[in-house]
Amino acid sequence: MGKLIVQKYGGSSVANVKRLTNVAKRIDSYVKAGNRLVIVVSAMGDTTDELVSLSKKINPSPSEREMDMLISTGEQISSSLLAMALHKKGVEAISFTGPQVGIITDTYHTQAKILKIETERIKKELAQGKVVIVAGFQGISTALEITTLGRGGSDLSAVALAVATGADMCEILTDVEGIYTADPRLIPEAKKISYITFDEMLELASRGAQVIQTRAVEVAKKFNIPLNVRSSFSKKEGTIIMEKAPYIEEAVVRGVTLTEDEAKVTICNLPDKPGIAARIFDRLATENINVDMIVQNVSHKKITDISFTVPKASVAKTIKLSKGIAKRVGAGEVLFDESIAKVSVIGVGMKSHSGVAAKCFSALARSKINIEMISTSEISISCVVRKRAGKGALKVLHKAFDLNAAKL
Ligand code: ADP
Ligand code: ASP
Ligand code: MG
Repeated sequence: MGKLIVQKYGGSSVANVKRLTNVAKRIDSYVKAGNRLVIVVSAMGDTTDELVSLSKKINPSPSEREMDMLISTGEQISSSLLAMALHKKGVEAISFTGPQVGIITDTYHTQAKILKIETERIKKELAQGKVVIVAGFQGISTALEITTLGRGGSDLSAVALAVATGADMCEILTDVEGIYTADPRLIPEAKKISYITFDEMLELASRGAQVIQTRAVEVAKKFNIPLNVRSSFSKKEGTIIMEKAPYIEEAVVRGVTLTEDEAKVTICNLPDKPGIAARIFDRLATENINVDMIVQNVSHKKITDISFTVPKASVAKTIKLSKGIAKRVGAGEVLFDESIAKVSVIGVGMKSHSGVAAKCFSALARSKINIEMISTSEISISCVVRKRAGKGALKVLHKAFDLNAAKL
């Protein structure tokens, strides 16, 4: 029996009739080579964004259940159209929604987690020689409601299906030739990386490289499923994301990222005593707010300020909750600032090399870019700068670590 391959085609790869037809041609060549295929598709082009903005025109704060009913439709369109394109080529194929193939999730609308996948239906159709097409980004909750898996969630559908079906390979087909040292749209001289570890990819993705969803990488790491990220427009080799990449020598820095999706919130004049930070961040955590960087000022007369960053989408909720806490603990104003950007430098080689932080800060200083907040992990350094300085900071860091000339 041939290999079982899960392939995910992103929005730009299925954006119009011509591209869908090209995808069908590519799938046909894999079928002719004797492979069995499970195909996951995203919505065509910017369909999901368009559906989101349509909903906001009707109601600025729509119910999350209804949002899922709406935004899950994009993937149904592309999956059925792809099945039709394959039929036209004489390839046997059948499309399904996430619920139809038993992708069972929890009940968190718009951010649901996959609990299990019942693979009987997929296996039955594969055994009959069909290409199985699954609408990405969606599932059915334990309360029998349609759910979606967070933006970029078709990547997660693909990885989870690869785990559940025991696939031999999982390919993420997109509009770039793989993972680059920086977003090639922002840094045209960025270099393609041949291999990257799950840990590095997790940092890159969670710090702004939207090329693959962070949660998809988490699941791939958990089940040790290597991912091949490559272009749907060419046959060129892509990037392999895996547990231990076969590097001859560790590059200290493998990539840099920029995100403009976060905002800074500051709670002023907090009493500096045990339990205050716990109270703030416990409350935010119970509301599923993802706090990233946290900075507490040196306290003066037992009074201090705490600043932290949250996704822009959570700012309104964060301010409301923070004001409530500030009132209860006798703190002052709650301020927010959406004009920030975060640049990050990532590489497993940082574990064994010193001086990366110094090089990063000096490069930004030489370009007169002011650093407002800093956070580090074992394999990354992130700096918050003014939003208008973000793209320049990314360029400066890419150059400072010689990534323009990197052989990765
Ligand atoms: P898809 O629709 O296939 O899911 P996305 O738009 O989600 O595609 O992701 C692909 C895009 O990710 C690329 O067009 C690229 O601009 C962007 N990107 C950001 N950072 C990187 C990176 N480090 N390497 C490659 N692409 C990146
Ligand atoms: N269509 C969804 C989105 O735009 C899911 C995906 O493309 O992966 O977020
Ligand atoms: Mg994507």
